[in-house]
Amino acid sequence: MRYVEYGRTGKQVSVVGFGGMRFDLSRSREENAELVRYASACGINYFDTAPGYCQDQSEDLFGLAFKDMPNDFYVSTKGMPENFDTAAKAREAVLRSLERLGVPKIHFYHVWCLRKMAHYDLAMRPGGQYEGLLRCQEEGLVDHIVCSSHQPGDQIARILEGNKFAGVLLGANVLNFPYRWDGVLAANRFGCGVVAMNPLAGGAIPRHEKEFAFLAGAGETPTEAALRFLIAAPQITVVLNGFTTRGQVDTACRVADRAEPMTDADIARIRAHLGSNLNEVCTGCGYCKDCPQNIPVAAYMQVYNDKVMFGRDDAAMRREIASNHEWGILGMREAEAGDCIECGQCEEACTQHLPIIERLKDIARWEAKE
Ligand code: SF4
Ligand code: SF4
Repeated sequence: MRYVEYGRTGKQVSVVGFGGMRFDLSRSREENAELVRYASACGINYFDTAPGYCQDQSEDLFGLAFKDMPNDFYVSTKGMPENFDTAAKAREAVLRSLERLGVPKIHFYHVWCLRKMAHYDLAMRPGGQYEGLLRCQEEGLVDHIVCSSHQPGDQIARILEGNKFAGVLLGANVLNFPYRWDGVLAANRFGCGVVAMNPLAGGAIPRHEKEFAFLAGAGETPTEAALRFLIAAPQITVVLNGFTTRGQVDTACRVADRAEPMTDADIARIRAHLGSNLNEVCTGCGYCKDCPQNIPVAAYMQVYNDKVMFGRDDAAMRREIASNHEWGILGMREAEAGDCIECGQCEEACTQHLPIIERLKDIARWEAKE
């Protein structure tokens, strides 16, 4: 495992981080905790979670794992400015996370999910979340205040130039880097740590290895290439992987041990293959889950990815939707695309800023019986 300093914090973190949003909840709590301990034994020392992840079980699962782990790790968790809009609420959120994680302090606490400047302004207003976090820092409950952002590079730069955050968590990967790298470079300029989430584009790369064969160099799979792109990039501090199995931990650690940065020729080859719209891929983050019509928005948008990534035509999308109704992620749907009342709630929440309502209209056409 390779370790690098997180920004200017003095903390040496593993370049592979454990993202706690994809635990397999069909397994026992102990089995999931064991996966965390396995990752720790493999040298991973950065563990990222949040209230709400994995049906709100993620922090508790880490807490269970930490009880039987050597005390040489860093833990990161989060709170949204919309949910904790006063200093007192922000402090309560920290105390609750500490209790669930069973640790005396949180090393990296995120002002979570900034999607527009208004969220940042809310966090920073007098008496708001940031003030509460500063108080937690003074009390020794939080080491570093950081943020997570789904904004364009110029907005990330505006947020970080104020020197309020030690680092930033952002969604960057081998498919969207032409659009996302500005934010990474801005963070580098300000000496911040950069944690990359979503390295495999919401699982799209492992699911479509044939189509993404162009990513791979000699002797590696497209998935390994996508991990190598970030893990070996000197601009990135930690790459979060949403591990579900030991095999995935092994793969990421193997890539970290061997990783050679992509060459200019590699990057040129990848750029030449990328469509102009891979910034518009649904990552499966699930932030759009609260639809008043119970439409499984994330599932529909994941299926829509096939159109965005591979330009599938209407006939192919009809087949794809029908197959997902029968066997796939749309099998348990309570409502269909045509039930959308265009309230806009999902688009407001979407970390990728996707035109969900328009896409649902396409899907409703594909779902219509002829
Ligand atoms: S716009 Fe449609 S899909 Fe989105 S939350 Fe509202 S009803 Fe649900
Ligand atoms: S539609 Fe947007 S918010 Fe919903 S899962 Fe996809 S990227 Fe996330």
